[in-house]
Order: sequence, then structure tokens, then C-alpha cells
Amino acid sequence: MGSMTRDCSRLKFVFAFFFFPMRSLLGRIGLHYDISGIANAYYRRAFDRIPAADKAVILPHCLIGEKCKAHFSKEDGVLCVNCKQCRCGEIRILCREMGWQFYISPSQNFTKRLVQRKRIRAAIGAACEAEIEKGIRSTPITFRGVRLQERKVIPQAILTDRCDCLNNDVDWERLRRMIGNETGGAAAGRLPDLPLPQGDEA
Ligand code: SF4
Repeated sequence: MGSMTRDCSRLKFVFAFFFFPMRSLLGRIGLHYDISGIANAYYRRAFDRIPAADKAVILPHCLIGEKCKAHFSKEDGVLCVNCKQCRCGEIRILCREMGWQFYISPSQNFTKRLVQRKRIRAAIGAACEAEIEKGIRSTPITFRGVRLQERKVIPQAILTDRCDCLNNDVDWERLRRMIGNETGGAAAGRLPDLPLPQGDEA
């Protein structure tokens, strides 16, 4: 039963990425699906097995307050001081309680370098649809995680409210629940029946 569920989730995962380039076409015929929700569900068990110290929440700088009091570090990104102008500070505190790492990153390239430097093995990341799409096109995605340069990271993703580099927002309660062990994302929609592409088992 467990392996059948695992197979279904793997199939959904493969379909979701296989059909991703065609999703606007599929949307026009009423087939919608939430790619981050499908990927989150697929990776969650593996994510939960990673030790707390090797996990991180990495938030984009578009979520910080307009008059953010943080300094920027080349090594660690935006250093939140919990001035309470945005909710990044409370997430930082929650991560500390959980024994996870926490970062606010200014860019996707910075995030990739951060993952190497901090030896992160699993990460919850917030990003807009455009950034997720860019990531899917430019990053090798495998059954065992997302390859960011030299490292393979098990991801959990949450969408920001808008594609906007200033004053963006995210569903903070959902993010808290994801840190507290719940898959992010809505249930997957129905996908048409097509042959499977070859998956990366590495
Ligand atoms: S809570 Fe942290 S990230 Fe948010 S505005 Fe204040 S210092 Fe900046």
C-alpha cells in the first residue's frame, strides 16, 4: 500500500514537470495544477528525515518591510533584527526554536551559493511564480532533490502573493505550518494520461 502511494506520488511528480511547459495551454482547456504542491507532497517524507541543523528556511528579500532595520552580510544575506515591520523576524525565531537555519536572500544566485556554504540539505523557500518557473528551467530537478551547483537539496516551496520585488507577501500561517511539518500547496488537479519521460534516479 505504502509503495503504491509512493508510486502514485512519483507519477504525479513526473507528470507535473513533464507538462509544466504546456501549462498555459492546459489551463485553456480547464486543466490546472499546482506544481509546488505536487513537488512538496512528493519530497515531504525525505525532507522530514533530514536533521534539523541541515534544514533551512530561505525567504526572498521582497518580503522584508519597507524600512527594514537589518544589515546585509555577504556571507549570510539580510540579517533580520526582528524589528516587527514584517513577519520574517517571527519565522527566524521559529526556525531557531526548531534548530533550523534561517536566511533572507537577495537573489536566486545568492541562494545557490548559500546552500553550498552552509551545507544545507533541505530547504523551505518562498518565491513568486516567475522565480519558480526560472528555477525549473535552469535547475536540474531529480527524484532525490534539486541540484544547486554541487549540492542536492530537498525542497519545499511556497508561492509569494505577487511577482513583485517590493512589499510582497506570503501566506505566513501556511509557512509556519510547513515548518511545523505539513505539506504546502493545494491538491493536484487531474492530468492527462501520457507516457512517462525518463526520470533522474541519481
Ligand atoms: S522583521 Fe527583520 S526582515 Fe522584517 S523589516 Fe524587521 S529587520 Fe527587516
